[in-house]
Amino acid sequence: MKNISERDAKHVWHPLTQHKLHPRMLGITKAKGALLFDESGKEYIDGISSWYTSVYGHCNDYILEKVYQQMQQLDQVVFSGFTHEPAVKLSEELIKILPANQEKLFFSDNGSTATEIGIKMALQYHFNKGHKRNVLLAFEDAFHGDTFGAMSVSGLSVYNGPFEDFFIEVKRIPPPSKENLKEVLALLHTYVTAGNIAGFIYEPLVQGAAAMQMHDAEGLGEILRILKEHDVVTIADEVMTGFGKTGTHFASDQIETKPDIICLSKALTAGLIPMAITSCTQEVYDAFYSDDIAKGLFHGHTYTANPLACTAALAGLELLQSKEIQDNIARIIQSHQAFDARIKNHPKVARTRQTGIIYALDLNIEIERYGNLRDKLMQHFMDKGIFLRPLGNTIYITAPYIVSEDQLEQIYSAIESVFDIV
Ligand SMILES: *Cc1c(COP(=O)(O)O)cnc(C)c1O
Repeated sequence: MKNISERDAKHVWHPLTQHKLHPRMLGITKAKGALLFDESGKEYIDGISSWYTSVYGHCNDYILEKVYQQMQQLDQVVFSGFTHEPAVKLSEELIKILPANQEKLFFSDNGSTATEIGIKMALQYHFNKGHKRNVLLAFEDAFHGDTFGAMSVSGLSVYNGPFEDFFIEVKRIPPPSKENLKEVLALLHTYVTAGNIAGFIYEPLVQGAAAMQMHDAEGLGEILRILKEHDVVTIADEVMTGFGKTGTHFASDQIETKPDIICLSKALTAGLIPMAITSCTQEVYDAFYSDDIAKGLFHGHTYTANPLACTAALAGLELLQSKEIQDNIARIIQSHQAFDARIKNHPKVARTRQTGIIYALDLNIEIERYGNLRDKLMQHFMDKGIFLRPLGNTIYITAPYIVSEDQLEQIYSAIESVFDIV
């Protein structure tokens, strides 16, 4: 039998991949804690928690046990007309920690569907109220997923050329900083006074796919406050930032004005089973609540609120709120700060930034987002047993909360070793 990597190329089409340029995938056979193992037995520290999902560590025994128990009780059932304990319990537990204005949860499967649903809620909210509003507002360089609504609001649509003619109309504002706030608010003013903006979707505090660009919490709060005055539905895309990464349970906890809608996925189920939730306020929900069946939200996915995924999410919530995980988050924040002090003045480092456990640095050279040099950089890390995915000249760390100090140090020194080769 040939190895996984060789057999892969025959029938498998990978995401975000030009197969002619990248013919070979690495076969991964096992994951535990902060480690991934490839088919030759080599191990790698998962420096990005497998795209910000496995934050409590891979194959976490506590979560596995809970899901295994649930598996023997109820595996899957239609969620239209039926309900079940894992979904109801998850709604009770999640509402306790979400911003206080959130009341209702709509389940789906992944981050893109979570934002797609948020966008549909905002558009239909106005439609149901008889408002004519058909434009969305979003940040420059935003990323909200790969379905049509999500692609439309994503500013980072470098490879979305074939689809652009089919997009929803979107206006864009730059993310706020202390320096540009006045201009951003002026631009915002011209857009909202046109009266046709239905909703504003944003990644609060950190724009992940834009290479961990971070913006000003107060400025964002001011933008949200103005939008609320104009009855624009605000949608926080916390698919990446949710569940502790920014140092609080949600990035929205750090901003005074709370969103009307919140999109959750990725770490929601701790990296075990795909699931997403779009939460909203009572006010949003009430715009759909009617004797008229057509005013309902006619959106549904087959695996909605899968009981196993809900169980994984519940176990994840317990871990998130445990002293052990909260202590770990505080420890990682401090370690990153110490690392930052160590490297920020290095001549090869142009800029560094940190929000919670998310740490990023820009190298002092130009690198294409998915170009050759970037691939070499990634390979350099892999050779050293560290899985990081640089974006252009940005190297970022979003390691699992259970990463050890020794493992963090290995990530840091691998990054420092790059300074000698670029
Ligand atoms: C990953 C991501 C998405 C898309 O989620 P998928 O599960 O990959 O569809 C949407 N928004 C943000 C902020 C993300 O990081």
